Amino acid sequence: MKILFILSLLLLFSCSQKEPVDMILVNGNILTLSPQTPKAETVVIKKDRILFVGKNSELKRFNIANAKIIDLKGKTVIPGFIDAHAHLLSLGNSLKNISLSRIKAWDDAVSLLENAVKKAQPGDWITGRGWHQEKWESAPKQNIKGFPIHKSVSKISPDNPIILKHASGHAIFVNAKAMQIAGINSKTKSPAGGEIIKDKQGNPTGVLLETAMDLVYQPYQKYLNTLSPGEQKRIKSAELQAAMQHSLENGVTTFSDAGSFFNEIDLFKEFAGQDKLDIRLWVMVSSEESLSDALLQKYKMIGFGNNHLTVRAIKQYADGALGSRGAWMLQPYSDMPSTSGFNVTPLDSIRRTAQFAYKNGYQLCTHAIGDRANREMLDIYQDVLKGDTSRRWRIEHAQHLSLDDIERFAPLGIIASMQTVHCTSDGPWVPVRIGNKRAEEGAYVWQKLLQSGTHFANGTDCPVEQLSPIENFYAAVTRRLPDSTQFYPRQVLSREEVLKSLTIWNAYAGFEEDIKGSIEVGKLADFVVLSQDILTVPENEILKTKVLSTIVGGEVKYEDKD
Ligand SMILES: [Zn+2]
Repeated sequence: MKILFILSLLLLFSCSQKEPVDMILVNGNILTLSPQTPKAETVVIKKDRILFVGKNSELKRFNIANAKIIDLKGKTVIPGFIDAHAHLLSLGNSLKNISLSRIKAWDDAVSLLENAVKKAQPGDWITGRGWHQEKWESAPKQNIKGFPIHKSVSKISPDNPIILKHASGHAIFVNAKAMQIAGINSKTKSPAGGEIIKDKQGNPTGVLLETAMDLVYQPYQKYLNTLSPGEQKRIKSAELQAAMQHSLENGVTTFSDAGSFFNEIDLFKEFAGQDKLDIRLWVMVSSEESLSDALLQKYKMIGFGNNHLTVRAIKQYADGALGSRGAWMLQPYSDMPSTSGFNVTPLDSIRRTAQFAYKNGYQLCTHAIGDRANREMLDIYQDVLKGDTSRRWRIEHAQHLSLDDIERFAPLGIIASMQTVHCTSDGPWVPVRIGNKRAEEGAYVWQKLLQSGTHFANGTDCPVEQLSPIENFYAAVTRRLPDSTQFYPRQVLSREEVLKSLTIWNAYAGFEEDIKGSIEVGKLADFVVLSQDILTVPENEILKTKVLSTIVGGEVKYEDKD
């Protein structure tokens, strides 16, 4: 009896000596991305941080009395996905609006719109996004440059203005009512840095490229401003919530937002302050904001709301997209030699913004797709940084590079922030636009960049593409096009490289590698549980990988129900 008493006392004593913990993942195939211990069976979490990573047999050291224990049954765990470049509220908006990303032909869009018009009040604006004429099975019956013409849509919607954003975000389709409100007619000239597409008779067809989009966005914005502030906030909050839920379902625990306005950042901050951000946000200030030192200092946030909101970057646009021939190339387009694309923000304005960014300790993230745009950005960055390689400035997309420029990124300390899924989704028509030689030498040259020592980041550019790190992973390791041929396969990445490009490399691209991107002691407890090991499953099974659960800061925020 006495011995028993002493024994239980001892047990109690030893238990109280053990560190109490909050969550334990056991029996897992845990891919840590830590160079020292790349694989583990268990992770121990205290509050929102990782306390221990190791073997099941080592768990004796912890007091697990109050811990949530998750038996992984051999399932694979990886660090939470970080999407290095996507558009948060556009994603939310697309989830709440007409989605045209999966339509097979223009007629499908027309019938979707017909339904929306029936539900709308006269005068309401109808918006949708995600159409891409190159992805349809056949071209619209009436088309100019492959783009649809407004007539079919204007007929079904005489009283409701319609805006349909192109998948690239660099063109819109509008109907006659929208053009009437915007004052666009046969006499309207295309603005600098944009184009109003017209037919042979000089009538606008309804497709507006680049800066010409503003002609319709301005009256649309005016309409939005007529909504009460409460109504506007309600809409944005719903979009934010939808985007966060969608992120969790896809295992994205940190979303790097490629451009939000200050009033949108106010909303993120309000959510973060109330502990209502379910994922972590890393936000670039939108290029259209007028900047001042005071505003940049006011909005600079690092890890606000318990590491849920960081604002320390500015977004700029140097050119447009390749699909609409807006990407600014050094040589003319192969399928339209009259144009080399164009610059959308005057270079001296980007240079001024670069100086603002440098002075205020912000990263600069400039959209540059064409080889000319990339070269101009490298030149400006080089001038403004003056040899300072510590700032981690980024070129977003870095999609088409001249051979002379590929090796300039690394010595300047500039990050190539790319989207591997763009390669496989746009690959079929890239050689049409720029010819085989330029496509092979400089399009999506991931290996060439890595081999020259460039830091690489990877995102989906959602809602341009699906917010699916798994699809992005598959694209990067295969470069397989929809017809299953490969797009210049010498540039594929290894599976380990791609996993890093979806986690730790993106943490680096936002100065967050000390707290995110790998499963190591002291880092935030952000994980994804996958249905299979993406490092070892056969290539043709990768896309079947499911996100089983998503854990952010030691809390299970999403669980697959099937
Ligand atoms: Zn983007």
